[in-house]
Amino acid sequence: MRPFQYQRAAGVREAIAKAEGCQTCSFLAGGTTVIDLVKLDVEKPEMLIDVGRLPMDTILRDEEGGLIIGANVRNSDLAWHSDVQRDYKALSEALLSGASPQLRNRATTAGNLMQRTRCPYFRDNYSPCNKREPGSDCAALAGYNRSHAVLGGSDSCIATHPSDMCVALAAFEATIRVEGPNGSRSIPFADFHLLPGDTPHLEHALEQGELITAVTLPPKRAGTASTYLKSRDRASYEFALASAAVSFGIEEGCIVEPKIALGGVATKPWRCYEAEKNLEGQVASLSVYEKAAEVALAEAEVFECNAFKVPLARNLLARALSEVEGRLARQSEVI
Ligand SMILES: Cc1cc2nc3c(=O)[nH]c(=O)nc-3n(C[C@H](O)[C@H](O)[C@H](O)COP(=O)(O)OP(=O)(O)OC[C@H]3O[C@@H](n4cnc5c(N)ncnc54)[C@H](O)[C@@H]3O)c2cc1C
Repeated sequence: MRPFQYQRAAGVREAIAKAEGCQTCSFLAGGTTVIDLVKLDVEKPEMLIDVGRLPMDTILRDEEGGLIIGANVRNSDLAWHSDVQRDYKALSEALLSGASPQLRNRATTAGNLMQRTRCPYFRDNYSPCNKREPGSDCAALAGYNRSHAVLGGSDSCIATHPSDMCVALAAFEATIRVEGPNGSRSIPFADFHLLPGDTPHLEHALEQGELITAVTLPPKRAGTASTYLKSRDRASYEFALASAAVSFGIEEGCIVEPKIALGGVATKPWRCYEAEKNLEGQVASLSVYEKAAEVALAEAEVFECNAFKVPLARNLLARALSEVEGRLARQSEVI
């Protein structure tokens, strides 16, 4: 492990000032993933700026009834928050399906957003990897690509985005609030993570020195329900092979406001706009869900070891849609 400087920021402005113009500085929050990457020599920061104790750790309602989640809110606290459990169930379920209780107690909202791929060729530090070393090639394309993406890939990179939380945030149309040298701004979730294209080392829309301060969620639409389903090689402490976050309502038998995102199968948290269009206004039924799932995976491009992900994700999505229908039926019985 290379030596690096450690500095703890006393406030948001100080953190930004320390990072401004410093290409080799990284923020440190819970430290559950950045420290691993430094130990592996995949990331080589000269300085880690600790922002983990800054007071960005509250979950508040905004004036419209949405939620403002501080960047330093721990994954456990977010998952078990009563408003999240009630109104954003898929988010709670996504968080609780990730990592382990110990990691979730430490990991933060911003750190989870910014976590990097688990592609073994990215992390081994000797295989060619365009994400780690631009222009070096992608070992996964012709290698062991069982865990890799079938959506959103390019000739340069097919690494999946690993986060569960982000899949739910994509479906709920979250917004990322950031503060930087030039003031504050908001980034729609769909624009936050970047597709690899021919620059897979560029992963997100943050400018140099910008700090995530919060994530906001729009108010829950009355009469909707949501769920998150995840398929993986073992029942816990494992990343997704495929996952689906789904939310919708049913009015007079017809589907309204469908929102779908997939994880484990794409190079970024994957919003399924076409599948949503396919569902809107349809009479809720298994065949309609299966059709939407087919549409969601229609553009999939498979590689030697990962073709199984297409039927896996299709079936998982159809099941998630059925699960939401079941939840809506149970909600209306309670009312
Ligand atoms: C063994 C293991 C299993 C895991 N399994 C899963 C899983 O199944 N599903 C899943 O989703 N995740 C999983 N994870 C990943 C885990 O969710 C992340 O490690 C965690 O969310 C990162 O949060 P952190 O606060 O520790 O981030 P850190 O490690 O502190 O930071 C991560 C990145 O975020 C940046 N950062 C932190 N705060 C800010 C900020 N405010 N503004 C801008 N940038 C910031 C840092 O600079 C760094 O680049 C697993 C991790 C491990 C180690």
